[in-house]
Amino acid sequence: MIAARTYANADVAVFGLARTGMGAVKALRAGGAKVYAWDDNEEQRRLAAAEGATILHWPEWPWDTLKSVVLSPGIPLTHPRPHAVVDQARYVGVEVIGDMEVFAREINGAAPVIAITGTNGKSTTTALIGHILKGCGFDAQIGGNIGKAVLELDPPNARTIYVLELSSYQIDLAPGLVPDVAVLSNITPDHLDRHGTLENYAAVKTRLLEQTSKTGQIAIGVDDALTKGIFTRHAGNGGPAAVPVSVGKVLGRGVFVVDGTLYDAQGQRAAKVMDLATAQTLPGPHNWQNAALAYAATRPYAKDARRVVEAIADFPGLAHRMEDVGRIGKVRFVNDSKATNADAAAKALGCYPDIFWIAGGKAKVGGIEGLASFFPRIRKAYLIGDAAAQFAATLAGKVDTEVTGTLAAAVRAAATDATLDAAPAPVVLLSPACASFDQFKDFEARGDAFRAAVAALKDQPIREAS
Ligand code: ADP
Repeated sequence: MIAARTYANADVAVFGLARTGMGAVKALRAGGAKVYAWDDNEEQRRLAAAEGATILHWPEWPWDTLKSVVLSPGIPLTHPRPHAVVDQARYVGVEVIGDMEVFAREINGAAPVIAITGTNGKSTTTALIGHILKGCGFDAQIGGNIGKAVLELDPPNARTIYVLELSSYQIDLAPGLVPDVAVLSNITPDHLDRHGTLENYAAVKTRLLEQTSKTGQIAIGVDDALTKGIFTRHAGNGGPAAVPVSVGKVLGRGVFVVDGTLYDAQGQRAAKVMDLATAQTLPGPHNWQNAALAYAATRPYAKDARRVVEAIADFPGLAHRMEDVGRIGKVRFVNDSKATNADAAAKALGCYPDIFWIAGGKAKVGGIEGLASFFPRIRKAYLIGDAAAQFAATLAGKVDTEVTGTLAAAVRAAATDATLDAAPAPVVLLSPACASFDQFKDFEARGDAFRAAVAALKDQPIREAS
């Protein structure tokens, strides 16, 4: 844990006591602050009290003496409208920040920071960067929007590099974070409910690049129109060195992947780095983008080319992202529960020819209309959750569908149909293109339920057609 000494003897409040909020309470208390805290959940309040926080509802906080309000990134700062606690803080002139800002003030250049953002691929890229750095002997401290809250990470030593995933909400709350390396993977519509317009959402992501140290580096995926424009604006503007990263395009300068081969064209001429087919947990062009971004981001630190290649090849992968959860007979089961929007689901749908697709949940803006080019690969769709009727309407006349309601029923039906199908290597794919909150606590719980349903099938095998 990183003790927040910049708050020694100060009054500070923490609003929202889940993962990041609890991390903040502990760090602020360890740094000697008097911490006021609130969460609507009683159990969370009890846990924070056990860590030494004073539990008071926010109207009762000592607003005249508060130095900051540390807000959980899950609570609206701007859209659809600021939470009342934010209005109150603004009214009395108390700053509202996130745990990432507390971290930034504390670390203040004591160790390099690599910060990763983008619509999709953040977690995979973050974990891969950490894995490469560890493979090269660094103490990679990986956290933020993935795994541990940033203040729960270890304090810095001479080999430490912080590798932090940031959602746009976290960027909003961390104006003083100065990354040494920033990574922007891609920008597509997502979370517009919390950011208003796509332009606003892109502006928040861009802010992370603008905050990056002038002597640092930014790596930008340039394969979508928005990020391409962002790269053009940042290249050669006197800020940090901008490295373009592409999958599919040969770049005169930058890092790119063509036909599954990773090239580095940051020096005099393009040099082949590796064949990404050797990285079995990083299948598909979207993962090649993640690999290329991770390669570009670690290059300033990871100097042993052989170890970098080995680390990319033996990356263990992340759960719930095209995670192979086993095979029954000829049928492969893939858990891509993390695909909470259509763009993410498109990546998985592009990887297999014969798909028995489980989709649905709490729909995002635009639904699955943008996935039409993948419909021919879908042998049948099994629809769950709130979005089932909407998705069935989009698929009508194009893809055979069944509204199964629950995930367990969908797995059973999909497995049976896939087993009986003539396709040689059918895949039952959970890639919902939806948030999970209508039926599950989070995408992890949804993926775990998928894994459990597959395990249950192994005990009750489906008979192949004779
Ligand atoms: P994030 O942390 O940004 O949500 P993840 O690495 O957890 O990203 O991947 C989430 C999902 O997004 C994966 O299941 C995959 O389908 C898709 N995905 C991963 N990387 C990319 C990428 N570079 N571009 C587009 N989609 C991606």
